[in-house]
Amino acid sequence: MFRQPKVEYKTGEQMLVMRDAGLVLSRALDEAVAAVRVGVTTAELNGVFEAVLQEEGATSNFLGYHGFPASICTSVNHEVVHGIPGGYALQDGDIISIDGGAVVRGWHSDSARTVIAGTPRPEDVRLSRITEEAMWRGIAALASARFVGDIGAAIDDYVSSVPGPALGILEDYVGHGIGTQMHQAPDVLNYRSSNRAPKVRPGLCLAIEPMLVQGGLQTTVLDDDWTVVTTDGRRASQWEHSVAVHDAGIWVLSAPDGGASRLEPLGVTPVPLHA
Ligand code: MG
Ligand code: MG
Repeated sequence: MFRQPKVEYKTGEQMLVMRDAGLVLSRALDEAVAAVRVGVTTAELNGVFEAVLQEEGATSNFLGYHGFPASICTSVNHEVVHGIPGGYALQDGDIISIDGGAVVRGWHSDSARTVIAGTPRPEDVRLSRITEEAMWRGIAALASARFVGDIGAAIDDYVSSVPGPALGILEDYVGHGIGTQMHQAPDVLNYRSSNRAPKVRPGLCLAIEPMLVQGGLQTTVLDDDWTVVTTDGRRASQWEHSVAVHDAGIWVLSAPDGGASRLEPLGVTPVPLHA
C-alpha cells in the first residue's frame, strides 16, 4: 500500500500571509534580475537579493537549508538547479536561472526566473521562453484540475506540442507543496504520470517549477554536493511560481498581479485571495 504524505491545507488568512512572502520575493527577484549583466558575479546577485529581504523584514528559506550557503541558487548554462553563488562573473550569452525564497511570519514562498546576460543565443531565448510558458500552462491547468497530476500532464502536452527542436523535461527534480515549510507534500511532477493524486481542493499551495533542457535528461551533482548539471553539458532553464488554490479560484502568490497577465490569454482569470 502507498501511504500519501499529509498535505497541509491553508486557511484564507494563512494564504494572505503567503502572498506577502510571495510579493517580497517577487521584488527581490526583480532586483536580482535587473542586476544581471556581463561581468556581475553570482555572489553580487545574491547580495542584491538579500538586501531586499532585509529591507522588507523577511528571511531566507534557502540560507542554511541543509547547509546551503546563500539566499538564492544561481545555475548558469549547463547547471540546472542548486548552483551556489560565488566569484563567477557572468559572460556574454550566459543563461542563468535565479531561484529564491522568502519567509514572512513563518510562511514560505519560492520562485525562479531565467535570464540571459549580454547577447543571447536564439536557442537559449527559445529554451527560456518555452520553459516559462510551460510553467504558465501548468498553473492554468491547476485552475480546473481535479488532481495535482493534471499540472504535469498540461506541461508535458505543451512541451511536446511545440514545433522545432525537441526540449526535454527533467524528471529528477519536481515541484512541491509549500507553506510552513518550503518543501512539503505533494510532489508536483512536470510530466504526465499515472500517479495523479492527491485531489486539488481549496487551501492547497504549490510551487510549480518545470526545468527544461536542450539535450538529454541525465543529470550529475558536482563535488560541491549541490550544483546539478546536465551530464551532456547542454543548457537548461527553470521557471517557478508559488500558487494558491482557494475557494473562489487560484492566485499566483509570487506575482504582483496574481498571474493575470499570463493566465488570461490561456482563459484563466486569477481571483484575489480573501480572509
Ligand atoms: Mg525554487
Ligand atoms: Mg521549489
